[in-house]
Amino acid sequence: MSRAVKRAFKYRFYPTDSQAAELARTFGCVRKVYNLALVARTEAWTLRQERINYHTTLALLTAWKKTDELAFLNEVSSVPLQQALRHLQVAFTNFFARRARYPSFKSRKKSRRSAEYTTSAFRWRGGRLTLAKMTEPLDIVWSRPLPEGASPSTVTVSQDPAGRWFVSLLCDDVIEQVPASGMVGVDAGIDSLLTLSTGEKIVNPKYERRDRARLARAQRAVAKKEKGSANRAKARHTVARVYARITDRRRDHLHKLTTRLVRENQAIVIEDLAVRNMVKNHRLARAVSDAAWRQFRTLLEYKADWYGRDLVVVDRWFPSSKLCSACGALAQRMPLNVRSWTCRCGQTHDRDVNAARNILAEGLSVIACGGGVRPQRESSRTGRSSAKQENPRATKGILAL
Ligand SMILES: [Zn+2]
Repeated sequence: MSRAVKRAFKYRFYPTDSQAAELARTFGCVRKVYNLALVARTEAWTLRQERINYHTTLALLTAWKKTDELAFLNEVSSVPLQQALRHLQVAFTNFFARRARYPSFKSRKKSRRSAEYTTSAFRWRGGRLTLAKMTEPLDIVWSRPLPEGASPSTVTVSQDPAGRWFVSLLCDDVIEQVPASGMVGVDAGIDSLLTLSTGEKIVNPKYERRDRARLARAQRAVAKKEKGSANRAKARHTVARVYARITDRRRDHLHKLTTRLVRENQAIVIEDLAVRNMVKNHRLARAVSDAAWRQFRTLLEYKADWYGRDLVVVDRWFPSSKLCSACGALAQRMPLNVRSWTCRCGQTHDRDVNAARNILAEGLSVIACGGGVRPQRESSRTGRSSAKQENPRATKGILAL
């Protein structure tokens, strides 16, 4: 079986000075339009209890462009501005469906700098991409090939806090779905990044410990510099660069890992880690780990969907660490420093492997009760559990693995 999917391919590119200026202008206009539309929608709702939709905001955009103070919106391609209104529409749809918080303003410093172009706003010829309002194609570094004959339907240009430029091309691709026989439970690690129910431990990417130390040092350096000074800006840039390197390595690591898990296993069970106190550590280390977890889950969700696998997300209150995976007895206490323990039944467990086995067993019982569902794409953005817990907890009769 094969499955047609939309797949994003992201590359670095090096803009000319005029391209960089055009894109910086476009990012600014995108942010302006998004914020103006958010104000309009908020006012309509709070003052008149009126919900305005995408088309109303589109009409507002046309009106704004005719005013003197917003005439600068005409200088950039109109497509990214319309796409900003669509993104706001999605944000409101998610809010009204209780999947997300109320949309917030885009800030000049903190928000992601990006602009989205649809087919009418770019030209794709012979593997060269030219955006609206530009004369030359982008100088893209093709670090991996696009699928044979692929042609992008949407192009997103962005700049990260380290100042690097990226272009993401959304293309049609075909995934061959080959059934797999494995089943695996995954535990969020403390010492290792992940532990599998097979006993395998997956460690953090190489050099990450050192990079984190560097990051902490760079952040302390920022704090020591005077606010608003050039030195502070420079120190901030160093932080952004180290952070970018950590997240890049993480992403590569997680991509390889999730692809392997999905290739080898028909069923994958993870815990809902939304609020779990996983890492008792420095705030920073915590932020990196939490981000890695969200990313791991997002990657796993869409890849499971592509490859036709069952991904089950089990309840975060499930006592995976304290439960003996051999006999089902519940241990009293399990402080974080206990790395292995022996149950009354005589079985000695590695803490994380035992937890991963329990997670797998819990997930398989969800599947057996018909509660196992493939994730929906929408839920992956908001981090909500996609598997409903409708069955009683399986604390006994845990499978021998
Ligand atoms: Zn036991």
